Amino acid sequence: MSLPAPRKDRTVIITCSDHRTVPEKFLKLEQDDAVLISRNPGGHVAPNITGLLAFDSFVTIANLLIVHHTDCGTTHFSEDVIRAELKKRVPDRAAEIDAMYLGQIRDMEQSVRDDLAYLHASPFVRQELKDCARGFVYDLKTGLLTAVEG
Ligand SMILES: [Zn+2]
Repeated sequence: MSLPAPRKDRTVIITCSDHRTVPEKFLKLEQDDAVLISRNPGGHVAPNITGLLAFDSFVTIANLLIVHHTDCGTTHFSEDVIRAELKKRVPDRAAEIDAMYLGQIRDMEQSVRDDLAYLHASPFVRQELKDCARGFVYDLKTGLLTAVEG
């Protein structure tokens, strides 16, 4: 019988679903690096908060990176257009549609700051996780990560 492997502290990365945003490449990760990647359009915290809380229940998270990127698809759509289409499809649910989080980004750095603020405001996220969170913008053209202060 062997001893269980020591637990590694994990890094959680919340980033965009875009195929051009590949943390394994821009962070030069190795296969055995202890990284969990959580994706959604834009790389926002709000849609993935429950996943983050689940990760936090079964691994030790030492770093939390929120990474948005240049030329993100969320800068090219309009929440108003999506809401109008949804209201045509389901007209009796307008209030619910108006409350939906759709993740449009108008200002990339402000979006990262807003996601950090959302994380810090959440009563469900423990303080140590809030303290280790950092925000970045990944530039698709240069391959550089730029830190964004919260
Ligand atoms: Zn994107």
